[in-house]
Amino acid sequence: MVGLFERASDPKQATDSMHTHSSTFKRFRHAFIVMILSLSGGFAVAQDCAATIESDDALRYDPNNIEIPLTCKTFTVTLKHTGRLPKLAMGHNWVLAKLSDLDGVARTGMLAGADKAYVDPKDHRVLAHTGVVGGGESSSVTFDTAKLVRGERYGFVCTFAGHSPVMRGEIVLK
Ligand code: ZN
Repeated sequence: MVGLFERASDPKQATDSMHTHSSTFKRFRHAFIVMILSLSGGFAVAQDCAATIESDDALRYDPNNIEIPLTCKTFTVTLKHTGRLPKLAMGHNWVLAKLSDLDGVARTGMLAGADKAYVDPKDHRVLAHTGVVGGGESSSVTFDTAKLVRGERYGFVCTFAGHSPVMRGEIVLK
């Protein structure tokens, strides 16, 4: 549970909207904790099955790596765009694939274009992806960790046109 409380009290996480809706946020957090307690049969299992990645008006992810414990049944990634530029000019997404497939999914995503959020729905190498976000926006995706095989290497990439050569990161399976 320590991880949850640390995350919740992190000033970087406490955005303006969370201040104005702090009671809603607290209720949500409380419900989330109760859900974890009930899922774990009453034991307070310290398991952080989620990660937040920030991006801005530069071509980068912060952080550019994510640890995913395979003890998590599902994992949630939230991509936040803290910049100012609209998504037509500086859109970002988060696309999960095998490290060796990143270039391929970036290519099919770019061809799919903005209408398809830069992800080709027929490309089964894409294991999970968020929507495209512009400045001030965020998008989350929750996926089944059963898709990830220990020993395989995975990564993530932004498939917005032109971003994939530099905007990518690595997954560490724990
Ligand atoms: Zn991008």
